[in-house]
Amino acid sequence: MKIAIASGKGGTGKTTVATNMAFSLANAGLKTTLLDCDTEEPNAHLFFNLEGAITREIGMPIPKLIPGKCNGCGICGDICRFSAIVNIGKMTIIHPGMCHACRACWELCPTGALQPSEKPLGKVISGESEGISISYGQLDIGEMSGNRLIQAVKEKADTSAVNIIDAPPGTSCPVVETLGQIDFLLLVAEPTPFGLANLRSIVDLAKNIDVPMGLLINRSTTEEDKLIEDYAVESGTRILARIPLDRKIAELYSSGQLFAKHLSEYRKLFLDLYDDIARAVRS
Ligand code: SF4
Ligand code: SF4
Repeated sequence: MKIAIASGKGGTGKTTVATNMAFSLANAGLKTTLLDCDTEEPNAHLFFNLEGAITREIGMPIPKLIPGKCNGCGICGDICRFSAIVNIGKMTIIHPGMCHACRACWELCPTGALQPSEKPLGKVISGESEGISISYGQLDIGEMSGNRLIQAVKEKADTSAVNIIDAPPGTSCPVVETLGQIDFLLLVAEPTPFGLANLRSIVDLAKNIDVPMGLLINRSTTEEDKLIEDYAVESGTRILARIPLDRKIAELYSSGQLFAKHLSEYRKLFLDLYDDIARAVRS
């Protein structure tokens, strides 16, 4: 099973939920994999002491212009949806950093002037900790499109395990890539007006992918939660769990520790949450 954990922005506690849920499941004896797809700023692994870490370099194909073969037809510039190729007069200019490796340009170039060539993109680091198989992607500095790297992290999913996928923040291209072929989407929101605005944007995005989803309110308080509760009713999104605004959690987090490791009530919370999710996936 693949459970993606996402939020409309960073700082909502998405990674905290992903890491502590993964720990709780593994601690209960479930085979668990944690995949950090936030390749621009991976930090799930910081809560673990990765053993036997293996690094795999990942590249992506980009177009290379073969001198003397381009007739300046402009087809490549017209079909590139990412403005990674510009045709000025008879000149063809490639911006490798903007390429998403969709392959359209070299497949449709009528003269064979464009050929694929591999360029380094980043790395996938994998290891074990706390009984969890952990993988994360690290995009090279200056790279703008990590989709191929996200795919490489997701390839580490284990079909016989519960795969917890920590999605990048926001609602842009890397999030869409991460949410492909998942079984359940868990949205994390905090009960503030800003949190609500970001929740709206990720729910709008999620409606385009046909997958069951639910909501976890982080830093929940009785007074503030109504904001999210009203929207949950309005949008038809079920609230599955709440993690309270708890000083003990903040103290453990600030010292880089998994709060579920020290506070058994939260291990139970994550196991109950997983049971709910498993039921929703089965139905
Ligand atoms: S499609 Fe090929 S031939 Fe046409 S402009 Fe692009 S590189 Fe040149
Ligand atoms: S491979 Fe796709 S994204 Fe990259 S330059 Fe060609 S058309 Fe644009």
